[in-house]
Amino acid sequence: MTETPRQITLEQWDREYGRLREAGMTEPAYGGPLGRHVADGDTRLQKLRYDNSPAALRLWNFLLTEEDRLRAARDNGKKLVGAMKDLGTVPVMAYSLDSLVAFYPDGAWWIPCVMELNAGLLQIADSLGIDESFCPVRAMLGAFVTEAHFPIPDLLTCSVGATCDDFSAIAQRLNGLGHRILWWEIPHRRAPDPGEEAVTLPGGFSAPKSQVESVKSELSRVRAALEEAAGRPLDDRMLMNGIAEANRVRRLLGRLRRLAFTAPLCPMPALEMLIAEMLAIHFCSDRDATILVLEELLDEVSRRVAAGTGHLSADAARIFWVNPVADLQVMNLLEECGGRVCGTEYLFAHALDAIPTALPPMEALARMALADPMVGSATDRAARIVADLRRFGAEAVLISRIPGASHCALEGEIIGAIVREQCDVPVLEIEVPSITDATQATLSTRIEGLVETIKEKRR
Ligand code: SF4
Repeated sequence: MTETPRQITLEQWDREYGRLREAGMTEPAYGGPLGRHVADGDTRLQKLRYDNSPAALRLWNFLLTEEDRLRAARDNGKKLVGAMKDLGTVPVMAYSLDSLVAFYPDGAWWIPCVMELNAGLLQIADSLGIDESFCPVRAMLGAFVTEAHFPIPDLLTCSVGATCDDFSAIAQRLNGLGHRILWWEIPHRRAPDPGEEAVTLPGGFSAPKSQVESVKSELSRVRAALEEAAGRPLDDRMLMNGIAEANRVRRLLGRLRRLAFTAPLCPMPALEMLIAEMLAIHFCSDRDATILVLEELLDEVSRRVAAGTGHLSADAARIFWVNPVADLQVMNLLEECGGRVCGTEYLFAHALDAIPTALPPMEALARMALADPMVGSATDRAARIVADLRRFGAEAVLISRIPGASHCALEGEIIGAIVREQCDVPVLEIEVPSITDATQATLSTRIEGLVETIKEKRR
């Protein structure tokens, strides 16, 4: 159904939309021309370039209609769970109950980008004492105050313990504004001591069994809160079904990532792949629809790979990307500079790994939560990056720092040093604010420099 893969503007997409509709394209209820989202204030969309497949159109429409979905869920009597900071654990539990819908309030960190600062969320955070010395997740505070971007959840959870200072401060400020939060604690993951009983976590790290037990006990408090919100028990069988569905999402993403990162020609651009990966965190408020969106995307990518078509040239520089970008446009920029993404570590690798199914479900979920790259050391994170870089055949690492983020003040240096030493590939660190308009020339120059270095090294 798709023509030659191309990246097109929003205006071109709207023309293409009319053509596809006339040709008989069917869409889900949340479908429609992408340009309509600009009327909601999402003005950054006008500056992005998009993949021209119906699968990508569906992905974008799914992403950009989440707020409507949440409001409809509430109108239909469902309870909303705001799962903060765990990036993938509580949503798996919440979606095991039909009457709950979990979402990711932290996702508000992209609103300043998508609405080009027009929503005023950062100013609200400023007025609450959370200024630009904090990372862009502070936009979440503004979203809670205005209630203009997501409904206030019926249950709000937040992981604490091995949590960055930024989020810890922002969530406490939110609590101070009167929002009740169920805090659950996760310890900093450490290597087992000699002779200490240890377990292997999804993704390959190991941790002391006592830490897994502690997380399991914390998650049992979350389970009780979810049961209370749903007004019914959440038994092991339901959790196992929830885990099986989450694993379907993860398997689809696994296949999608492998094809997208290893095909000779890039079959799906970095921007769409970033959005697809983000679906793993909380299923964009509809787990079943997430599966359909990813299946269609995987079909498209598989077709392109089989046909030997794709984006960019075959000699595009293969770059492993670390950390999500606050300004989505930078993913386009990488490709304009001659690079392509071949491997990612967007802070939530634990939401991509399969959850063990041969274990009791709470044990499996605790192990998954403890595999979170952000609760371990930067050295652990680097080890995972090195392994994935080799798996995907990337030729360089690009670490995109998030302004003000306490998690990555020095992390980039540690990761960069380990990657250079073990893989002998160039490493570039850049900082990406919510809007990069003023710094795009500098960013381009630096990324082009990396691309040239890669190509030079090939000779
Ligand atoms: S500092 Fe990093 S980990 Fe913490 S909220 Fe900001 S981006 Fe997320």
